[in-house]
Amino acid sequence: MKKAIYPGSFDPATMGHLDIITRAAKLFDEVTVVVMTNVRKKNTHAFTVEERVDFLRRCTKDLPNVQVDSYSGLLAEYAKKVGAVAVVKGLRAVSDFEDEFQQSLTNKKLNPELETVFLTADADSMFLSSSVVKQVCSLGGDINDFVPSEISEDIIKKLRNI
Ligand code: ADP
Repeated sequence: MKKAIYPGSFDPATMGHLDIITRAAKLFDEVTVVVMTNVRKKNTHAFTVEERVDFLRRCTKDLPNVQVDSYSGLLAEYAKKVGAVAVVKGLRAVSDFEDEFQQSLTNKKLNPELETVFLTADADSMFLSSSVVKQVCSLGGDINDFVPSEISEDIIKKLRNI
């Protein structure tokens, strides 16, 4: 049984995240999406960890081998704890690479059994980030193509204080 973890802030989940989750679910027997608290982005989160987990659970409900969890410690330790063999990461552009490469090497040092698997972003969603969603939505733009339909209303309500 090959288990993978897919970590991120998911503040909020986007179509780009869902694309990576769907593809990872085909490659591994089990995938756990892990909502992490990113120290660098900690004070800029728009959604609570509970909201982010709930959003991800709602948009992955049709993927039976996908689970959602949250964690605030070291990813390498979490991987050991749940017996994951790989960390899945999405790569949008060269700009994602340097940081991801560094994280991958650090995780490997901390947990030598752990591999990082990079999936290239889908051409249609490679411009998408949670920040783009937050920006467009707060300024009144249409986010229906950017986020899964199950969660778009809740995102709009919170970001526009409705
Ligand atoms: P963001 O950079 O949007 O705040 P996260 O920290 O939540 O994203 O990202 C979690 C993971 O998902 C990272 O590996 C990131 O590269 C990947 N990812 C984010 N947006 C996309 C996208 N549009 N397509 C593919 N992968 C993505």
